[in-house]
Amino acid sequence: MAKRISVVVSQGQSQNPAKRNLEEEIVAGLLMEQGIDVTIVPHLYDLKSDSTGILALQGIGSDVVVMSWLYPRAAHWLLDQNDVRGHFAESQLKADDEASADDDGSDGARDGNDKPRVTDERETPNRKIYCISLKASDKPSDFIEETKRIARDMTTQVVSLGDWVGGSPSSEQLNRFNNPTNDTALGNGNGKDKGPDKLLQPVRIEETGGRRWYPVIDFSRCTNCMECIDFCLFGVYGVDAADTILVEQPDNCRKGCPACSRVCPENAIIFPQHKSPAIAGAAIDVAGLKIDLSKLFGAPDGGADAATIAARERDEQLLLAGREAVGMDVGIPKRQAEQPADSKDELDDLLDEFDELDL
Ligand code: SF4
Ligand code: SF4
Repeated sequence: MAKRISVVVSQGQSQNPAKRNLEEEIVAGLLMEQGIDVTIVPHLYDLKSDSTGILALQGIGSDVVVMSWLYPRAAHWLLDQNDVRGHFAESQLKADDEASADDDGSDGARDGNDKPRVTDERETPNRKIYCISLKASDKPSDFIEETKRIARDMTTQVVSLGDWVGGSPSSEQLNRFNNPTNDTALGNGNGKDKGPDKLLQPVRIEETGGRRWYPVIDFSRCTNCMECIDFCLFGVYGVDAADTILVEQPDNCRKGCPACSRVCPENAIIFPQHKSPAIAGAAIDVAGLKIDLSKLFGAPDGGADAATIAARERDEQLLLAGREAVGMDVGIPKRQAEQPADSKDELDDLLDEFDELDL
């Protein structure tokens, strides 16, 4: 039986004609291919967990391709936060400022750090989620070809694993492995298997709701240390029945504030709409410039300054909310508060490097 693949296209927040055009042309192109189901949802970040868009995503149990205007790592963990779970699968179509990511969605921050992560303790459904940034290309055909490649990979895996268990592949099996398009639903470009097998209409989910701002946790990095829950004074974080950190009241978060992302010792907190690519979920290697995120966000050698900035940002929000500033007296881990003062210059240099990138 032919395999089908689901593609979800998440629309941009604005009505930018160029962006909307790209989205619509991708959808139109995908609908011309066999074996692809297309769903259009509003911007992922703005969807509430009980919205129709999230329910639709939760209803897709197989491999899925999600195209959005977010960094893939941000989109993956945003979906995870909404109970749309699976293994992070890397797309070959990347924006210029996306570096290679590990299979688990981590971008390498775990190197040399053996602490157990939340994902080590929990089961992940056996399916892949491919998140593709719509910033990766302005050509609709690039997204369509990448979707077809992914669908061929899906079928290839089924053929190779299912038929070869316990023995060597036959020549016929090898042929199918090397030329998967003979069996695939999506075609090999010879035109024989093209043509609509369904109504040429996507499922289009429209919802109204304002723009949102809240943290997203990358659980492939998170060690459940609880520093974020101690730091945030707005009741955003909570714990689940297993005492694992979660974003419990996302809409309590203060718009534009990224403070807790700077105090997280694992750089696990993402604000997908923040202007800094590092905070928005980009991988480490930004435009060829290796940025040490631990200095930017607050790890041993640069943490004091990150904590100072975070405390200042939090105070601004406390004052705006009519509350008293608390400075460094509340929720700043000793580890960070005791760092040497000269690290401020290093952090300033890093921030300057980001500004110079003009991303
Ligand atoms: S501070 Fe970071 S690592 Fe610690 S619980 Fe929060 S998100 Fe996880
Ligand atoms: S950004 Fe500020 S308000 Fe939002 S969760 Fe973090 S500390 Fe709390």
